[in-house]
Amino acid sequence: MKAETARKWIHESARQIEANKEQLTQLDQTLGDGDHGLNMGRGFQAAVEQLDQDTSDVGKVLKGAGTSLLSKIGGASGPLYGTFFMKLGAHLAGEENPDLKQLTEGFRSAVDSMKKRGKAEAGEKTMIDVFEPVTEFLETENVSNLDNLREKAEASLEEVQGFEAKKGRAAYYKEKSVGKQDAGAQSAYYILSSLVTVLK
Ligand code: ADP
Ligand code: MG
Ligand code: MG
Repeated sequence: MKAETARKWIHESARQIEANKEQLTQLDQTLGDGDHGLNMGRGFQAAVEQLDQDTSDVGKVLKGAGTSLLSKIGGASGPLYGTFFMKLGAHLAGEENPDLKQLTEGFRSAVDSMKKRGKAEAGEKTMIDVFEPVTEFLETENVSNLDNLREKAEASLEEVQGFEAKKGRAAYYKEKSVGKQDAGAQSAYYILSSLVTVLK
């Protein structure tokens, strides 16, 4: 992944989030406070605006994005998405064209940091339920066809509906959260689907 591809990833994520802002708002209205669409739209807009167009350092692009997501998204998800991109960027610092193996190692480091930050594990109906299985898939499968990666993200998102929320505002709904989609899992899907789009 080159720096230009990382810039495209941030652009494409911003585009998908903007296009689905209303849906993210509605999901968060059902199991939260209804600000996830606005939060994510504002954060990714800021991440696009601060992009360094000149650097060839992938890590720098991703760290810059993480810093603005951290300061602009807010809520529970801001520090988590901020952590993800900053850690991934730190892992790829100084690289001009890391391969899929380096990207996978970066994902592992970034997802583990998110889990620590949110004191969350997989199975608790959060964005982690999309990031963790996709990272495991990258680690264990020979990902020659990126369509498989998008399918994995889609299947993981689908599964989240059946989980009971244990973290964040959705946890107040307990068993009533079962059968409903988590807003953060949905936005995580858009970010990962954007990555597949720009890597292809
Ligand atoms: P807030 O709940 O503060 O309004 P957002 O609406 O922006 O923040 O984000 C809510 C999303 O954040 C949830 O849908 C869930 O996916 C994720 N989330 C909340 N708490 C945690 C946590 N402790 N660990 C991981 N993800 C979490
Ligand atoms: Mg919210
Ligand atoms: Mg909020």
